[in-house]
Amino acid sequence: MIPFAPPHIDQQIIDEVVDTLRSGWITTGPKTKKFEKLLTAYCGNQSTLCLNSATAGLEIMLRWFGVQEGDEVILPAYTYSATANVIMHCGAKPVFVDVGPDFNIDVAAVKSAITAKTKVIMPVDFAGFPCDYDALNALVALKETTDLFTPNTFEQTQLGRILILSDAAHSFGAMYKGKHTGALTDISVFSFHAVKNLTTAEGGAVALNLPAPFDNDALYAALCVKTLHGQNKDALAKTKPGNWRYDIVEPGYKMNMTDIMASIGLVELSRYDTTILPARKQIVEYYANAFATDEWAIIPPYKTNDLESSYHLFPLRIKGASEEQRDAIIAKIVAQQVSVNVHFIPVPMTGYYSGIGYSIGDYPRTYSLYQNEITLPVFVGLTREQTQTVVNAVRSAVMEVLYQNETAH
Ligand SMILES: *Cc1c(COP(=O)(O)O)cnc(C)c1O
Repeated sequence: MIPFAPPHIDQQIIDEVVDTLRSGWITTGPKTKKFEKLLTAYCGNQSTLCLNSATAGLEIMLRWFGVQEGDEVILPAYTYSATANVIMHCGAKPVFVDVGPDFNIDVAAVKSAITAKTKVIMPVDFAGFPCDYDALNALVALKETTDLFTPNTFEQTQLGRILILSDAAHSFGAMYKGKHTGALTDISVFSFHAVKNLTTAEGGAVALNLPAPFDNDALYAALCVKTLHGQNKDALAKTKPGNWRYDIVEPGYKMNMTDIMASIGLVELSRYDTTILPARKQIVEYYANAFATDEWAIIPPYKTNDLESSYHLFPLRIKGASEEQRDAIIAKIVAQQVSVNVHFIPVPMTGYYSGIGYSIGDYPRTYSLYQNEITLPVFVGLTREQTQTVVNAVRSAVMEVLYQNETAH
């Protein structure tokens, strides 16, 4: 069976983890701090906080900005549930909007959805392909948008406009007009979950890039406290002899990254541009070239003059396939020992969100993309031969399901 996205764990990672295990310090400490500095240098943002997940990062930044009951947060209907769940956790209302043909949030739809209650926009860089950040950044700065903005907290007043909190779970390393994700807008949150491009098993990072008058380093320090119980000293500081006394300055959360996780991330980052991205890019290009001549294949966008994906996913679409036909195609692909996936079941279609009144009928583009989408395996270690096996399996499954019936007529 060709797997979908197994982690690439080799001796170098094992050695780095063992080094941490033997070091006498396994939770947040020197390796996490080093990882944060290297992430900041890579992305070109102002300051970076590592946490135990992207979900935690998204939620803590909504809470930091004071998002609460009565507020609205705009996000694409085509995303993973985590993007919406964190808005619910804060008691605010998720306002889903439709996406464009590139699977990313439709900026015109965002504009129409803005109200006096809108506090945050959460774009999602689907499959690793960056959203149109110039358009999003310009939209929140427009006079008609800022005139509508109604700040309720100190941070909201300081920013004076809607915050852009990017769900960059897929897009670490992606480029937009010469800049890396993380440096493209106010705040971007990366995921280092096991299936993501760069992994720490579980984990995530908040890339801070707020404009003046915000002090991103001061905010980093405040977030360290907020994500560790609201305790004014972290565990490492407390181990210094005699330095036992601490205070709780707020009822904080528990979201920190451990040095065991960071040690995996340090190795991943050290070879991200030299090994990981090139390997993923090669697979994506192989699929794109292979399917270029199949008239039923819709190739996802991954590179333009201005944008380059992080090659996280290859969301192939089967032109003309209904949801049932797509599911039948998947069953035939899996029967040929190839693992595939669907990214994602749009959030308004899931049980909980449809139960509270959202309807996929309101997001026709999202549904049209979802109904015929099949995500193909992309991972470091997928061989050329396996890649061709995937292509063959997809092609024959599509032929059987979409074209068999027609020839029988
Ligand atoms: C994986 C993912 C997340 C959640 O990341 P975690 O690190 O698992 O919390 C959020 N949004 C999207 C789009 C994702 O794919």
